Amino acid sequence: MNILTFDIEEWYIERTLHGGRVEKYRQFDEMLDRLMALLDERGLSATCFCLGKLAEERPDVVRRLHEAGHEIGCHSNIHTWLNKLSREEALADTRVAVDALEQCIGQKVKSYRAPAFSVGESNPWAFEVLAECGIERDASVFPASRDFGGFASYGTSEPAVVTYNGRSVKEFPVSTVSVFGRQMVCTGGGYFRLFPWWFIRSAVAGSDYTMCYFHLADLIQEDHTMLSREEYEHYFKEKGTLLNRTKRYIKSNLGTSGAFSKLQRLLAEQRFENLETADRQMDWQAKKRITLHSSLDMNNNQMGGGNDLRVIVVTVAITERAYTRCA
Ligand SMILES: [Zn+2]
Repeated sequence: MNILTFDIEEWYIERTLHGGRVEKYRQFDEMLDRLMALLDERGLSATCFCLGKLAEERPDVVRRLHEAGHEIGCHSNIHTWLNKLSREEALADTRVAVDALEQCIGQKVKSYRAPAFSVGESNPWAFEVLAECGIERDASVFPASRDFGGFASYGTSEPAVVTYNGRSVKEFPVSTVSVFGRQMVCTGGGYFRLFPWWFIRSAVAGSDYTMCYFHLADLIQEDHTMLSREEYEHYFKEKGTLLNRTKRYIKSNLGTSGAFSKLQRLLAEQRFENLETADRQMDWQAKKRITLHSSLDMNNNQMGGGNDLRVIVVTVAITERAYTRCA
């Protein structure tokens, strides 16, 4: 099963980071036209995770994607990473974003992706928050280590039903491929730009599950400028050291020249579904179930009311694996 997703955020990010340069807006509009024409030509429907704010600032973009038959998912309200928010802040952010998107398209939003895949060991409550906001499917888990977290203890990169505090969400993680024993990603964002076509092609062809994720900016051939310290700290909410800014600069620029043609070739060779269709086709009875616990839960269970909030440890347990197929 191959799943095709896009994170739609560029106009908002451009306005908040750079004030909204007309030529950049034009680039995003043109890439959106090009991309939608490609998907239409291939008869593909993707899941487009949109910012709640985009529904307010560019409702035409969100409606256009919806009317073209793409699933509209939620990508937070203003692109704040979930691991930088408290549980209450994350709940408020998700509620506002889902409401804005639902009002924009007149339909329920049931799929979600956190900015920067910011769901992991430090915020297992995120799954409960998403379920409380009506989200049924999540695509926020990066099941390997990465610069900004990742969720390595999730295990292998396959879909699972994740439960926290009695609330469950169907998880569609980023897909990884083993390279010399190390789990790597090659089907999204900067990784897709960096890996050669032959490598991506064989990784997708040889896999039962592929999650592709792109931003419009990943597909535009251009030179991004290095962010200033202020811009970096405003956006990434961490120290804008020269090393951090240089790493981000390299990630943003390398491999942009061939990205769109690689995507064209990939979509010509493989069939892709959106998340909603993938959910319907998935044999969930045969998928693993992951129950997450925090140390707070464990203290409460074992000692009848512990209140140590300093450290939260996640225990991942496969509690059930059924191989019988549902009728
Ligand atoms: Zn994003």
